[in-house]
This record gives sequence, structure tokens and C-alpha cells, in this order.
Amino acid sequence: MGLARHLLLRGSESRWLGERLAHRPFVHRAVRRFMPGEELDDAIEAARGLATRSLATVLTQLGENVSSAEETVGVATAYGRALLAIVAAGLDTDLSVKATHLGLDLGEQLAFDNLDRLLADAGAAGRLVALDMEATGYVNRTLDLYRALRARHENAGICLQAYLFRTEADLDSLLELGPMVRLVKGAYNEPADVAFPRKADVDLNYLLLADRLLEARQSDPRVRIAFGTHDERMIESIIRRVDEMGLPPDACEFQLLYGIGRDLQLRLAAAGHPVRVLISYGSRWFPWYMRRLAERPANVGFVLRSMARN
Ligand SMILES: Cc1cc2nc3c(=O)[nH]c(=O)nc-3n(C[C@H](O)[C@H](O)[C@H](O)COP(=O)(O)OP(=O)(O)OC[C@H]3O[C@@H](n4cnc5c(N)ncnc54)[C@H](O)[C@@H]3O)c2cc1C
Repeated sequence: MGLARHLLLRGSESRWLGERLAHRPFVHRAVRRFMPGEELDDAIEAARGLATRSLATVLTQLGENVSSAEETVGVATAYGRALLAIVAAGLDTDLSVKATHLGLDLGEQLAFDNLDRLLADAGAAGRLVALDMEATGYVNRTLDLYRALRARHENAGICLQAYLFRTEADLDSLLELGPMVRLVKGAYNEPADVAFPRKADVDLNYLLLADRLLEARQSDPRVRIAFGTHDERMIESIIRRVDEMGLPPDACEFQLLYGIGRDLQLRLAAAGHPVRVLISYGSRWFPWYMRRLAERPANVGFVLRSMARN
């Protein structure tokens, strides 16, 4: 892992830094590149705009590791409001949530109860809810939570990270459930005993897992796949594999983050591939934003330019 990436990821974990930077106007301006605004209305407005360009969306309210049960109920209620707004606007928009935002640190049962209700409401509205995958210490508990939720809800999805050595085995163990899987490379600061330290190895593993998912989709139409990446070469290679395997072009969708790879999003949609853009909103964006900087340390240039405009 490069030094800049490592330092930015360390920064994402620092409450001290977050408290000092998150209120600075220049940081707010730089963050706007990756999120349309802090309010749900901002996200809905952005989703409407993307829908006019044939881009479906996923909404996520930023936040993680909450410290009280009341707070998690507030988060679940806020997601309920998001669902209502999505339905009222007639948007093809799903939800993506972090288990620790809904109480995983406070107990599996609390997170399960919050998610069970949200999935039931989302199911009635015909929308999916995917569980994000967080740092490695949460993987076992998030997978257990997913298994329990998937047993009750067809609209439950899970994110898997290609940088972890364990993910191949995790994927194999999930396939019998007919899961909805979003495959990503992985965004956290993970040690070399659990994650591939070299990017080239992460990329190779991503392709291997992508193949495994497409093969599973060939034999089990319940398997739904989202490739969460902006890596154009990876996407091209997946599109070739879909074609070689004789799968329909909508056998998988591509998911990208709001503000990243905008041309690529439009080109993929214009070529007939299902594309979903993940829009983040909410006030607790600091750790999430630092992870976006770490993915491309050149993004720090935007922050510095924004600071210079102060
Ligand atoms: C829809 C979606 C959901 C995600 N959910 C999770 C999750 O639940 N858990 C998790 O650990 N990670 C998640 N991630 C983040 C993911 O793990 C990667 O950190 C992130 O997608 C960057 O990797 P990449 O696949 O785009 O490939 P990379 O090889 O890192 O990047 C490929 C190219 O994309 C562009 N790019 C990538 N990132 C940025 C950026 N921040 N700013 C500007 N350009 C960029 C650059 O041009 C780069 O060359 C998610 C990503 C997406 C798209």
C-alpha cells in the first residue's frame, strides 16, 4: 500500500482530525465533488437528475459506529423516510447501509431488528437494501447478519471485498443462498495478514471473484450481481466474460460512486448496461471522505485548491 493511501486511511480513523477538519468551509467545498449535499432532499434531487440520463441509483446515509440504541432507531427511521421519498419520486433507487450504523457494535440483535424492519418496508416498496462491508473486524458478524436477514428477505444484498484473502471462501459459502452480491476492491486500512498488500493482486482476485459470481449466475438466476468499481479495464473485461458466457447484458449491473467516472457511467448506460450510482448524504461524512481521498491521493489536490480559494 502506498504511503499517501496509508496516511489518509489512518486519518479516516482519527476522531481528533475529523473534529478539526470537518467544519472547515474549504473541506465542505471539496466534499461536494463526491456528494450532492447533506440532506435527503439533495440526494433525491441528484437521483432525479441521474434518472433522466438512464442511471439508476442507490442512497446511503453516511454514518458508522453509533453509540446508543436510540441513535440506531433514529437512523432506521431516517432510512424509512428515504424509502418514502424514493417511492414518492418514482425513482429506481435502492438503499445501502452500514451494519454499525444500525447498531452492530451494540449487539447483533439490535442491528438485526433494525434491518429486519427496514428490509420488510423496502421489500414492500420493491427496493433492495444492501449491507456495506466495513473493516475486517466486522466481516464475520456482517456475514452472519446477512445470512439471518437473507433467510427472511429476498431483497437483502451484501458487499464483499476482493482485497481480503478470505473473500473467495466467503463467497462460496454464500452462493447457496442465491445472494445479491456487490463486489468491491475494499476501502479500509487492512494488515498484510488479512488482505493482499499489492494492488495488482487485489485486481487479480477481483477478476477471479467476478468470474465465480458470473458462473453462479449462469446456474442460479436468484444470484444478483453488482460490480462496484470505477476500474474501466476491469469493467471491460467483465463485459467480455458476460458475452463469452452467453449471459444477457443485464446479468449484472455496474455500480459507481456519485462524482467518480461520470463519463464512464454515461457510456456504460448508453451501451445498454445497467448502471447504478451510489449517492451519499448526511452530516457524518469525514471518515467516508478520507477513504475517497485514499483511493486516489491525487484528490487531495482538490482540497488544496479549495483551501487556496478561501
Ligand atoms: C458502489 C460502490 C460501493 C462500495 N461499497 C463499499 C463497501 O461496502 N465496502 C468497502 O470496503 N468499499 C466499498 N466501496 C469502495 C471500493 O472498495 C473501492 O475503494 C473504490 O471503489 C475504489 O476502487 P476501484 O474499484 O474504483 O478501483 P481503483 O483501481 O482504485 O480505481 C480505478 C480508477 O477509478 C478512479 N477512481 C477510483 N476511486 C476514485 C476516487 N476516490 N476519486 C477519483 N477517482 C477514483 C481512478 O481513475 C482510478 O484509476 C464501494 C465502491 C463503490 C463504487
